[in-house]
Amino acid sequence: MSRRPYLASRLQGFGTTIFAEMSALAAQTGALNLGQGYPDADGPDEVKQAAIDAIFAGVNQYSPGPGTMDLRKAVAEHQRRFYDFDLDPNDEVLVTAGATEALAASFLGLCETGDEVVAFDPTYDSYGAGIAMAGAVLKTVPLLPQSDGTFGFDDDELRRAFSPKTRLLMLNTPHNPTGKVFTPSELQLLAELCQEHDVIAIVDEVYEHMVFSGTHVPLACLPGMFERTVTISSAGKTFSFTGWKVGWATGPAPILSAIRTAKQFLTFVNGAPFQPAVAVGLRLPNDYFNSLGVEMEAKKTLLCEKLDKAGFDVLEPEGTYFATADISPVSKKKSVEFCMALPEEAGVVAVPCSVFYQDERMGDHHIRFCFAKSDAFLAEAGDRLIAAYG
Ligand code: PMP
Ligand code: GLN
Repeated sequence: MSRRPYLASRLQGFGTTIFAEMSALAAQTGALNLGQGYPDADGPDEVKQAAIDAIFAGVNQYSPGPGTMDLRKAVAEHQRRFYDFDLDPNDEVLVTAGATEALAASFLGLCETGDEVVAFDPTYDSYGAGIAMAGAVLKTVPLLPQSDGTFGFDDDELRRAFSPKTRLLMLNTPHNPTGKVFTPSELQLLAELCQEHDVIAIVDEVYEHMVFSGTHVPLACLPGMFERTVTISSAGKTFSFTGWKVGWATGPAPILSAIRTAKQFLTFVNGAPFQPAVAVGLRLPNDYFNSLGVEMEAKKTLLCEKLDKAGFDVLEPEGTYFATADISPVSKKKSVEFCMALPEEAGVVAVPCSVFYQDERMGDHHIRFCFAKSDAFLAEAGDRLIAAYG
């Protein structure tokens, strides 16, 4: 046995992801799993059928490096339909193994060792790990709960985070875990800072079609931003096929080419028969995309009302399929301890928000629930929480 630790030092601190850990706890205890973010129902039948047809039509070998041309065209059509910007499917769209690979390839393809990446704290868990794998440094600006129940940040603190070392801004809107949808004026400030400091923006928009208040505006749409912005999304969230791992990045050709260079040596390509199916999904009528948001909003209301009755202070999300609850009114425990005991105390699984923060204390009183579940499941989970704490 080697005397050296097996895990490379740059990955120290990134053990098993909290999502896998919490789903294992749910499986072990039989508790209702509102932890890991995935829907409990599959997406549209026509999208599923297209994947089955593709398998039987023999679309089972490597797809082209940047993704099939038809899917790249469908991504470009989607961006034109919803955000009114034009993309060349030849070199401004890249298909990836989920948003996760687009993110990792962006960090690996664009950062030198020691480059800084500015992001808001809390961050989705793969950002810190991907940035560490690239030898870059995560520099965070806190998002703090405001008196109106939304999350905000201090403009000066954001300005101070940018420096000559900053290579990337890593933005996520709608934001996991807080549910924040960044406002036009916040995006304007971010755009100004990126331009002033010659920074590339990577924007994770996987929850783009789940917005309940405000409007989702891609940073790439702001003046002067397309040429320095990479926009990332995924079929996992928009079509409820998280297991297919088909995502995409769009942006200017020279930046995408750097990302593609890294992507080639991560997966090379993935999901050949799923790619034509996702193209079918992206071409569904507006109704599909609108109903996704409307259905999620009704689920948000259902769960948040139950959480409120159970005695939590609920921070209602503006987007995503996650709601955050402050546990202070019902427990003196810290969020990790609270979530570890939750399956036994209430038969429910949630995720402690401290795991999303660089400054762990910040999420000590907050826990995250996923509401992309059937109404009956949410009602049952909510009633169990009311019985345990209400
Ligand atoms: N970004 C965010 C903010 C997420 O919540 C997730 C989880 N779906 C991902 C990226 C990863 O997406 P994918 O499963 O497509 O890799
Ligand atoms: N994005 C999902 C979440 O935030 C989980 C994805 C994963 O397990 N890696 O819960």
